[in-house]
Amino acid sequence: MDCSQRWAGADGCREVADIGRQVLDGQPLTRHQASRLFALEDPEAIAEAMVWGQRVARLRHGRRIHLCSIVNAKAGGCPEDCRFCAQSAFHDTAAPRHGFIDSAEVRQAAQEAAANRVNALSLVAAWPELREGPVLDEVCARVAELAAQRPVRPDASLGMIRQPRVAARLREAGLACYHHNLETSRGYFPRICTTHTFDDRLRTLRHAREAGLRICSGGIIGMGESRADRCDLAWALRELGLDLVPLNFLNPIPGTPMAGLPPLPPLEILLTIAAFRLVLPDPQLIIAAGRTVHLRDLQCLMFLAGASGLMVGNYLTTANQPAGRDLQMLQDLGLEPFLEAAVHEPAPPGKDPGPPAEASRPPP
Ligand code: SF4
Repeated sequence: MDCSQRWAGADGCREVADIGRQVLDGQPLTRHQASRLFALEDPEAIAEAMVWGQRVARLRHGRRIHLCSIVNAKAGGCPEDCRFCAQSAFHDTAAPRHGFIDSAEVRQAAQEAAANRVNALSLVAAWPELREGPVLDEVCARVAELAAQRPVRPDASLGMIRQPRVAARLREAGLACYHHNLETSRGYFPRICTTHTFDDRLRTLRHAREAGLRICSGGIIGMGESRADRCDLAWALRELGLDLVPLNFLNPIPGTPMAGLPPLPPLEILLTIAAFRLVLPDPQLIIAAGRTVHLRDLQCLMFLAGASGLMVGNYLTTANQPAGRDLQMLQDLGLEPFLEAAVHEPAPPGKDPGPPAEASRPPP
């Protein structure tokens, strides 16, 4: 059946339910079924997809939600030309610029994240690539400090990695997880960036995985891509066997070439979350930038569509809603933050444990 034929009404809901049951029973979707899901238009069929997305999320991940935060570890002036990005030197934006942050700033970000009951804090740098040299030495020092403090899992998003030794050094410094988005489908990628390729991004993820790091990769929805592109992205992520998949929804930044793009309707966003969950039942599906702008009062429906994670605290160049509102939303839904025992348990003897992990957290 052609994907352009829309599922609608009771028949559409039945077909979506069949697909949802198939995933819940542990049978992966076919590519054709995935395409059909991403193409849904009928609100009733979308609601049905959300129901099954939620069932799969709760079966695989329970009621504990992975919370992560980011800190802009090196801001602005990036020589890559990513058309969505406020930090690209190609675009005239009001985004901040600064060099790599020092130990005190990392410590403060970690303490804030712990106070927000966050599981992982990622150091994010606006540069194209991390190579052997003094910058890598400094990055590894910050990662090691973060790992020694132990209030949160140390993650990072530090651009492309072309040398396997770079990934190995990050792992040795104590990094747990490397984040590097595919951003969009292979076919659409040249429309959003011309200074590096989709394959460059795949290679980075391969080096990180081979170094023993967990890998986190997702994309940005709403950059003018088609529904088929979203399905292609989900499929490419599925083939990578990821641990975490962040989904961002474009918040167009003035001064970037994407500034004039229209916002996605909330129902389309919720369908996208449900479809990603049904294609990718196992990884944590984390909703990141754009949710407050686009979903507004419907944000809690992210979790009723299959999300199992949330980025809390501010984004790289835009503000998020206060973390307290996110924690209240989880509590209202009967969900709770997930804290990884291996990270938050006391440090082994002989290592500086830093502040006790739970001491800085509010009671649940
Ligand atoms: S590589 Fe990262 S920081 Fe640089 S322009 Fe692209 S998205 Fe922005």
